[in-house]
Amino acid sequence: MLVQSKSKKTEVVISKGNTPKESLLKGIEQLGGISKFISKDDNIFIKFNLNLPGGFPTNTNFDVLETLITSCKQAGADNIYLGSFPIRGIPIKIISDLLNLKEHFETLGAELVFLDNSDIFENKDISQDQLKKIKYESLTPVEMNGNEFFIPAIILNSNKFISVNQLNVNPLFKLNLSLLNLYSIVPPRYRVIGKNVKENISHNQYKKDLISNILDIYAIKQPNLIINDIFYILEGAGPYIYKDSKIKTTNLMIIGDDAIAVDVVTLNTLNLEINSSELILQANNRNIDVPKFSNIKILGEKVEDTRTHVELCVSELEDIKVRNFTISSGKICSGCFKQAYHLLNFMKTYMGKDLKYNVNNSFLIGEKPPEPNQANNFFLFGDCAINNTKNYKFRKIIIESKKDLIGGAKSKILKESKSKKKTKIKEKQNKNILDLPGCPPNIFNCLELILKYFGKKEVPNLNLFANINRFWITGNLNNKLKLWEAL
Ligand code: SF4
Repeated sequence: MLVQSKSKKTEVVISKGNTPKESLLKGIEQLGGISKFISKDDNIFIKFNLNLPGGFPTNTNFDVLETLITSCKQAGADNIYLGSFPIRGIPIKIISDLLNLKEHFETLGAELVFLDNSDIFENKDISQDQLKKIKYESLTPVEMNGNEFFIPAIILNSNKFISVNQLNVNPLFKLNLSLLNLYSIVPPRYRVIGKNVKENISHNQYKKDLISNILDIYAIKQPNLIINDIFYILEGAGPYIYKDSKIKTTNLMIIGDDAIAVDVVTLNTLNLEINSSELILQANNRNIDVPKFSNIKILGEKVEDTRTHVELCVSELEDIKVRNFTISSGKICSGCFKQAYHLLNFMKTYMGKDLKYNVNNSFLIGEKPPEPNQANNFFLFGDCAINNTKNYKFRKIIIESKKDLIGGAKSKILKESKSKKKTKIKEKQNKNILDLPGCPPNIFNCLELILKYFGKKEVPNLNLFANINRFWITGNLNNKLKLWEAL
């Protein structure tokens, strides 16, 4: 449970160095040294960002992890484990194999934990029942505020828990604060938010539930040391690398032993109002101690000297300029906004050439989106857009009937006046419509549907991406993933 000491002023360091390693070591020193946080024989779990197969800033900077592992060892730590759940559908084993992570951490004297047990998927002798048994042994159900969460036992049982968070801009929360990094200790399957469409739209229930879950997880296991790595930040578009993403270098790290205080100082350093963070606002409304900025003792650099501006993600989907696409948004909730943000940025980044010759596409999203102009193809993103546009004009194609030659000849003989002739109008269902269902839709499913709709010759880049994806997750492995039920 959440216990916060209010007797002592919370200390947070803003540390500056020439390299990430220097910033980290300097920051820990200014807080009193690593031994203040790590004791001899501690079992440590380091939660880092492991979202996709790629380097930083999509994932945590590996130099920073190496420096931290070395420091923990110097303090006498017994076992040092590292881990995180990637985005839904990507097993840790795949990322580890591509980046050689398991071996890399082993040489440093630490262990990458396959929180999703994906390291045993390929074991042909393991039965479905054994897999389920392993799952229930490795995840512990924890109840918090009436909800049940499944948390890896290895994290709950660690004596010291460290969060190393690569900070980037985020489409829902402005920044990937450490509170968000901590949330991905829950398997992605259990992070899926409920599906009551009406409630979602009118109350933005999606975001409310998401924030509530994030704060519940924070309350279950609070880290002892929090590092917000802002040495490099992905700004413009993030938290993954897209065409509109830019790297900004600040040379800074924000470090402390209170995640909320570290996030508050991070927001302030990046020139954002504390109250502009819904996570911090909601934490304030719950039984969580949110220190005022003025009550935090800042060590190291002065905030005034380090304050820097970051370019945040767009707040309107229409501002993501995808080649040959127009976007019509109705009323949407955060679920669809987040998924569409990633899909559109993906298309903009990787499908520019594919879309060069597939012109005039319309993308509709949300409840009652504006009636689009004529287009060659219509993409309906999410259950709201699919259900709300049933009577829209673009659903039908109007065809004027061809000239009736026999009827025309008869008319001539009877000398019927031209004014009496009626043009026949026929209506036909528009087949150039692609439903991308879900509440909200899953991006990988959307990409597969778009590929099928256009055909692989029309979108070769997307086809290549899909093939690589299928190569990572082969049919067999996919079956195992389904059995495992964690992803
Ligand atoms: S379909 Fe999208 S916009 Fe509609 S309720 Fe679901 S997530 Fe929200």
